[in-house]
Formats: sequence, structure tokens, C-alpha cells
Amino acid sequence: MKAVWAVMAVGVLLASGCTASDESMADLVFRGGAVWTGDPAAPSASAVAVKDGRIVAVGTEADVEGLVGGSTRLVDLAGRMLMPGFIDAHTHFLDGGFKLAGVDLRDAATPEEFARRIGEFAETVPAGTWITGGDWDHEMWGGELPRKEWVDSLTPDHPVFVNRLDGHMSLANSVALRLAGVDSQGRMADPDGGTIVRDARTGEPAGVFKDEAMGIVARAIPEASEADLDRALQAAARHALERGVTQIHDMAGWENLETYRRAHARGELPLRVYSVVQLSTWERLRDFVAANGRGDDRLWWGGLKAFVDGSLGSTTAWFHEPYEDEPATCGLMVTDSAELRSMIEAGDAAGFQIIVHAIGDAANDWLLGVFEDVAAAHGPRDRRFRIEHAQHLSPAAIPRFAELGVIASMQPYHAADDGRWAQKRIGPERIKTTYAFRSLLDAGATLAFGTDWTVAPIDPILGLDAAVTRRTFDGANPGGWVPEQRISVEETLRAYTEGGARAGFMENRLGRIARGMLADLVVLDRDVTQQDPKTLGETRVDMTVVDGRVAYERPTG
Ligand SMILES: [Zn+2]
Repeated sequence: MKAVWAVMAVGVLLASGCTASDESMADLVFRGGAVWTGDPAAPSASAVAVKDGRIVAVGTEADVEGLVGGSTRLVDLAGRMLMPGFIDAHTHFLDGGFKLAGVDLRDAATPEEFARRIGEFAETVPAGTWITGGDWDHEMWGGELPRKEWVDSLTPDHPVFVNRLDGHMSLANSVALRLAGVDSQGRMADPDGGTIVRDARTGEPAGVFKDEAMGIVARAIPEASEADLDRALQAAARHALERGVTQIHDMAGWENLETYRRAHARGELPLRVYSVVQLSTWERLRDFVAANGRGDDRLWWGGLKAFVDGSLGSTTAWFHEPYEDEPATCGLMVTDSAELRSMIEAGDAAGFQIIVHAIGDAANDWLLGVFEDVAAAHGPRDRRFRIEHAQHLSPAAIPRFAELGVIASMQPYHAADDGRWAQKRIGPERIKTTYAFRSLLDAGATLAFGTDWTVAPIDPILGLDAAVTRRTFDGANPGGWVPEQRISVEETLRAYTEGGARAGFMENRLGRIARGMLADLVVLDRDVTQQDPKTLGETRVDMTVVDGRVAYERPTG
């Protein structure tokens, strides 16, 4: 209703005979296509007008006509679809920027291909330069972990430390081990919450470091300069905007927050950022907020991130029952439970949003219990606890998300990816409540979608395809992997827009197309609500608008 009133008011102004100056005209007008508003009160429209970074009219072509002046940019949708900008609720954004400049092993399908790409990359960078990035997946070639010998002869002058795509293990070559001070006799003990994979015969470190053990090598990598970080941000932002992402939640920490602040102060922050820092630094955040407030609509902070467990791919997600293919382990809790609980209490008492990674069913149950206890002890407030990933849930956990008001921050792409091998790991029963989008929505939970970039590509179209079809990348499940957990296109779009806005306390100004909302918008090349789901993955982003300004336009021709 509000939109209609706004349009009528403008109409009255024009009818009263005054020549409207260009100042009262819209900056941008979209018309002649489908508008998916995400607004349950008015779900569809065919025209939208934007002025000064806000949406000023939503309706039909007639409703925006009077707002078109000489300086208005008219965009004919011509069968395409306008929607709110995608919000990616979980990224490691600057890592993404750095990885755009690193070696790409994501689709390396054999050990030979893996080694060849690293060798070729080494030829393109000066000796001594660390070769990082990677995103390899040993499941591509049957599950054998890579070893340093695979790449040593190709990289005699380059330290290599390339990560698995879930970020929970990395392969070092011998140069990197030497620089990190890891002796070849393997006398170094495994750190708490981590594993140094060793050669079964010699006991020497074989090259792969898991979870907390990754720090042993990572510490030897020289720190990025401010200029490196600034460049990584711009590269990451370009990459995200090309994919229709107008806002990201960044899970990385202080160095990233400082990088965003530098860019914002120069007017060079190209998209909206909710910058989250580590829960262990809650006192620093408290002092920082006392001095600097909580930011603004372009860049804000006030979230604290921690981990309960590891990942499924690294056999470190924490389950109630052992892994099917490694019956000696149920995974592990990566943070001491008493310490994590007391940090959650402290961060909540300080008024911040608590955001915790939990993948295995035991990790999720444990965390829901802590959230319930903390909320009961501290009394009601709009705290919006978040569980990141919420990947494997016990059936009893599902209704608790809605009951406790815990946001499920999930990454549908992982379902299409893990679906290839998850059953071998956790068996036929536990997969029924894996990536349980349908069950969570039916139980009234808020879903916020994202990608965990760089664990998955930051492309929301891949997530849309994955949530709606639940196809797996190996083509083995054309009708969907655990198809009962599929959700609709509109439910997916909502999780990628309004859900993300809610997860960042922005739903009263972002995540829907309605009058007065901030103008973050995306034009897709087709109306995805009317497509055969099989073709969803072919959807392209034609235009991305942040704060009423065109931030990306796909080159035509
Ligand atoms: Zn993450």
C-alpha cells in the first residue's frame, strides 16, 4: 500500500501544473519486465524507480512514468527480472581476493593434474614467492590425500601451501616445511585440535596439515601489506558484483575490518559489508565499539565468530556416532568447550551477535544447548544467535532453531558438492537431515544463504540451482540428492536476500524491493521464478546496483 501512496503523491504534484525540476526525478527506472520484490505484501511488480540510493516507487509502468526526467537512466527489463541484491551471509572475502591471484586447483581431477598446475603456476611467479590458494578436493580422485612428493620436484624454489576447498586442510611442500621449521623426523607433536598427517612408513610429515595444525606452516607466510589487502578487496568486490552480490558478511577478523574501513574512508568500498571478528577478541570489539560506534549502512560490525568443530571433508566435524568410513573417530571439537561457552556468555553479555560454526550433529546440539542456556540466563533481547553451516542436524535439533530464534546460516552449494560422497562418510540415515533446508523452513526457522567463499564460488546462481534441484556435481542424482529437502526458487531467493538482511539486522532497510528501502538491486537475464529448474544454472547477472548506483553491467555484444 505504501508504494501506491508514494506514486499518487508524485502524480498530484505533476497534475498541479508545476514543471517538475529534474531534481525530483528518479535516477534509475526499471520497467517492462518481472520484478520479484521479496515483499510478501506485494510480491510482484513490473516497474521500480530509484532516487538518491532509495527505492521511491514500486508498481506498474504507469506508476513510474511521472518520475522519468532528462537525467533518469531508463532500463528496459524486456523479459528479464529485477530482484533485491544477493546477500552472501558467509564469506572469507579478502581470502577470495587473494585467491583470485593464486593457483586454482578446484577442478583438478587427478594427482597428475594437481601437480602439473602447481608446477606451471610456479613458472609464472618469482622464486621464493609463496604459492597459495588451491581449493583442491581429494575426493575428485578417490580420496587419497596429496603428499609433498607430488610437487617437490616441480617447486624446488617455491614454498607451497595450498588448501583443500573447505579450508580445513592444506598441503605444504618441502620448501614450505623447511621455512616453517618443521623437521623431517616428525618430532613435532600434533597441536590440540589439529593433525600433522605423517608417512605411515617413516613417520615423517607427509605434507598435509589439518585444522589447528595448519597454523604451523601458515605462520611462516609473510604478512600481506596494506596495499596487498586493498588490492585483494577491490578484486574480490569486482568478482562479487559481477555475480550480483551487493552485500557480504565477512567472517575473517580485524585485518579485514581495518581494510574495509580504509576503503570506506576513501569512498572506495564497492559493496555493503558486515565485518565479523573472532569471538576470542570480544574485549577488543567492546573497546572498539566504545570508541567508534557500530558503523553505518555501508560497513558495520558487532558480530563475533567462533568454531565448535571442523568439517565433514576433513573428518573433523563432530558427530554423536562415529564416521562410517573411519569408525575410530566421531570428529572433534576444535575449541575447548568450557572456554567456548564462557566466551559466548561474555560476548552476549556485551551485546554482540554470536555467530558460531557447527557442522556435525553433536556440534549443533551442543551449541543449541549453550545458546538456550545463555539466552535464559541473560534474559530477552534481539540477539539473533547464528549457527554457521548447520550442516548435519539431529531430527530433534530442527525445531529448536525457530524456538530459540537461531538463524541457520547455510551454503546450498555445499549440498551439491558434498552430496557426491557424504553418504560414504556418514551413512544413509544421517544424510536425511543433512542440509535440511525444507525441514528447517517448515519448522519456521530463518535461513540465511551464502557460500563460505572461498570454500565455494561466491556465485549465488550456483546456490540457487543447488537448493532448488539438489543435483550433485557428479551427475549421479539428477532428481536431487535427498530430494525431500529441496526448496522452491522463491524460498531460495528469500534466504539469499531477506534472510541475509535479517541475519545482519538490516531487514527494515534491505533485502526487499519496497518503497523507502535502500536500492541494492540485481537484473537477471531471465525470470527465474518461471524457469524449468534444470536451466536455473544458466542464469546470468546483467546488472548490479548498490545504493542506487550501477556497480556492474554485463558487457553486451
Ligand atoms: Zn567459513
